[in-house]
Amino acid sequence: MENKEFILCKYGEIVLKGLNKGQFEKALLGTVKTRLADLGEFKIYYAQSTLYIEPMSAECDIREALGRVKTVFGIATVTRALAVKKDIDEIIKYAKTYIPPFLKDAATFKVEGKRSDKSFPLTSPELAAKVGEAILEVLPTCKVNVNDPEALVRVEIREEYAFLHANAERGAGGIPYGTSGKALLLLSGGIDSPVAGYMTAKRGAYLEALHFESIPYTSQMAKEKVLTLAKKLCAYIGRVRVNIVSLTAIQEQIKRLANEDYFTLLLRRSMMRIACRVANMHRCDVLVTGESLGQVASQTMKALTVTDDAANIPVFRPCIGLDKEEIVKAARSIGTFDTSIIPYEDCCTVFTPKHPKTQPELIKVLEEEKKIDFIRLEEEALASMENRLISLY
Ligand code: ATP
Ligand code: MG
Repeated sequence: MENKEFILCKYGEIVLKGLNKGQFEKALLGTVKTRLADLGEFKIYYAQSTLYIEPMSAECDIREALGRVKTVFGIATVTRALAVKKDIDEIIKYAKTYIPPFLKDAATFKVEGKRSDKSFPLTSPELAAKVGEAILEVLPTCKVNVNDPEALVRVEIREEYAFLHANAERGAGGIPYGTSGKALLLLSGGIDSPVAGYMTAKRGAYLEALHFESIPYTSQMAKEKVLTLAKKLCAYIGRVRVNIVSLTAIQEQIKRLANEDYFTLLLRRSMMRIACRVANMHRCDVLVTGESLGQVASQTMKALTVTDDAANIPVFRPCIGLDKEEIVKAARSIGTFDTSIIPYEDCCTVFTPKHPKTQPELIKVLEEEKKIDFIRLEEEALASMENRLISLY
């Protein structure tokens, strides 16, 4: 038998799913297949809470494949693993050659054995001990530390092969993309909304995006920046449609007719109404925003209540309890931060009032709202909606 390297992906929360587990596994399998489609012929299948990725030719780009599966939601750990014959002598032979390069920076290691195939003659601890001895023979300066090892080596006796691997890497976690329903992400060019989108997608929601522009008050470059952010999110979600609606006429009317203190609230309510219509068009069940409690005047509890009153579907705000610093940290780790900080105007920052209402009363907001023909303006804004399909490759 020729030995080859597989990629093994261990599930995250899917393992906790009961009768529905198959549905989540199927979704995960579908995502991984799509994500690796252009990297050569792989056989991809699942068994025993593990997704197996087996290269079927020498042309398969296994390094790139590993990088890509690390961004797939639903996977807790990923590792390259050598498949060897289920024979202890073979396992020892390959443990001596395959494992040492992974331990070159480690002073201590531990071997864990796992035997899914109970007919294998050695128990898991016996197997681990044998492999540990073999590694020590070739790496005499390395020490075994079972309590706090720097490197973890695993030998797993599975259905078809025994697998050897060391130092599995963390996957993206979460649950498979598209298994929790569909959400419409209100995507601005800021730091918060891409993070909110990522968090929602990580919990399995399929994302559709909506961006509001306000040309000439916002620029073409601001829109391009948002599309770049959408593309960065595609590292995790593969593809996303960005719907683009112009708020120019609505903002001009608000500025002309409403009391300045209410500009932002009226605008945000209008954004919510339009977003609900777009959500309905694309069968999204919820809206998602990057709002965080108390971050700005429009994000106080009272202001958010006034905003929510204009929405007829739930508004998810995954960043609600995060400090700015925590959102920035998340934005850096998902790769959106550097784009988000490029300075461009957002529709929410044009015509901002000097004294925005932080404790607005809904009744007064509704009075102000009557001054403007929002029904007609929103209809017109929706009629000229465009969309762009963004995908990773
Ligand atoms: P962000 O960093 O995400 O822009 P923010 O703290 O700057 O958020 P606001 O500008 O008040 O906050 O916007 C709050 C939320 O409203 C955003 O997180 C986003 O979900 C939505 N939003 C704001 N501007 C737009 C826009 N131009 N298009 C779509 N959604 C927007
Ligand atoms: Mg913003």
